Amino acid sequence: MTTHRALIVGTGIGGLATALRLHDIGWETVIVERAAARRSPGYFIALFGTGRAAAERLGVLDAIGNRLGDDTRNFDIDRSGRRRPGMGHGDLPGAPRLVLRGDVESSLFDAVSSWAGIRYGTTPVGLDEHADGVDVTLRTTTAAGDTEVTERFDLVVGADGLRSTVRRLQFGPDEDFLRPFHHMIGATILQRPVAGFRSGDGFVLAEPGRSAWVFPFANHQPGVLFNYRTTDEQAEFGRPAPESIRRAFGPEPLGPVLEDLVQQFEAADDVLFDAAYQVRMPSWHTGRVVLLGDAAWCLTLYSGMGASSALAGADLLGTTLQRNPGAPARALREWEQKLRPFIGAVQTTAHKDLVMFVPQTRRDRTARTVTLSLLRNPLAKRVMRGVIAQQFREKSLDVAGV
Ligand SMILES: Cc1cc2nc3c(=O)[nH]c(=O)nc-3n(C[C@H](O)[C@H](O)[C@H](O)COP(=O)(O)OP(=O)(O)OC[C@H]3O[C@@H](n4cnc5c(N)ncnc54)[C@H](O)[C@@H]3O)c2cc1C
Repeated sequence: MTTHRALIVGTGIGGLATALRLHDIGWETVIVERAAARRSPGYFIALFGTGRAAAERLGVLDAIGNRLGDDTRNFDIDRSGRRRPGMGHGDLPGAPRLVLRGDVESSLFDAVSSWAGIRYGTTPVGLDEHADGVDVTLRTTTAAGDTEVTERFDLVVGADGLRSTVRRLQFGPDEDFLRPFHHMIGATILQRPVAGFRSGDGFVLAEPGRSAWVFPFANHQPGVLFNYRTTDEQAEFGRPAPESIRRAFGPEPLGPVLEDLVQQFEAADDVLFDAAYQVRMPSWHTGRVVLLGDAAWCLTLYSGMGASSALAGADLLGTTLQRNPGAPARALREWEQKLRPFIGAVQTTAHKDLVMFVPQTRRDRTARTVTLSLLRNPLAKRVMRGVIAQQFREKSLDVAGV
């Protein structure tokens, strides 16, 4: 029996899930990761039905767990700290699991670690695709310097995130595919609950064009997410992140809660500060090179589906490769045909989902207040839940199921 050999670039959720699935169907996998070591647990993730179904088939759902607390309280607040009852993850249709990105990555890492020798500090620097294989030059950087090797693979999977090197080498420059959402994101894990709140409290401070969210986790410090609109991403990157965030929430005084959140962001060792982009591509593959996850279709965090779609994409890739032995190009075509309508729909709704995270106008802000008050009304609650469930329907679609 011929063993097929795949190169998987990236050890995020997409890369590790692909490695696990391809191993399951008998492929040999080589995994490379640009970073020198595994990364920190990162930020919150809601895992909707699409991702749960794929994780279950991959055998990692139990290990992913759920950090949704039993005694969570959620509030909508204003700058002075005044609070009203709000909505949390537990109130969303489809019972999404609330986890850290690292919970999903660790569950996958543990499943592959016994057989996957991950090459850290390694990145592709050249791809040369032929009818019968892809020659990939891999550069490894260590304290002793750089070394390069060229190896042949039957398939290359670029799961190397928003600013993918595989995409650049095989499909073209970032500018051809990145569509700006004109919003900046700052995220970190808080060192302590905000004064006046318990660690099981979540809250949202939403104003037109900017918002701050605090997500509570069971047995873990809460996470904060700042979002704000911008017309000039480069200017935002040009300043220290906390300064950009302060300016975005000014010129009014921040008030006690925002001040506490920004100070904790400033003091944190591990923060994410980035601009939101979608990736839009006419095709995610050539004959033997395929992109997956954020590298192919980054949905933005506002869709809440990036992790779920990376899991589903990896799961489905294994299925179509298994169905088309020795014919990777046909497998990739079948894979994309099945996945693309789903991803297209989620990319479209991400724009609407953005308004839930960051009201764009005063009217959006008022609509949010009205929705929350209707959800507190026993009569209107059932209707409102039905409306919201309809909006969330596609997040539970088991697109990788066969
Ligand atoms: C704040 C925030 C909140 C989010 N919330 C949710 C949510 O609620 N629900 C949800 O489903 N999704 C959410 N997402 C999105 C989700 O986290 C991503 O879509 C998902 O993690 C993407 O995984 P990935 O494997 O495709 O890419 P990444 O996680 O970006 O992983 C890429 C990997 O490739 C490596 N790499 C990069 N370049 C190279 C190279 N040249 N060579 C080798 N390795 C390389 C990187 O170091 C990294 O390890 C959120 C995202 C953010 C930022």
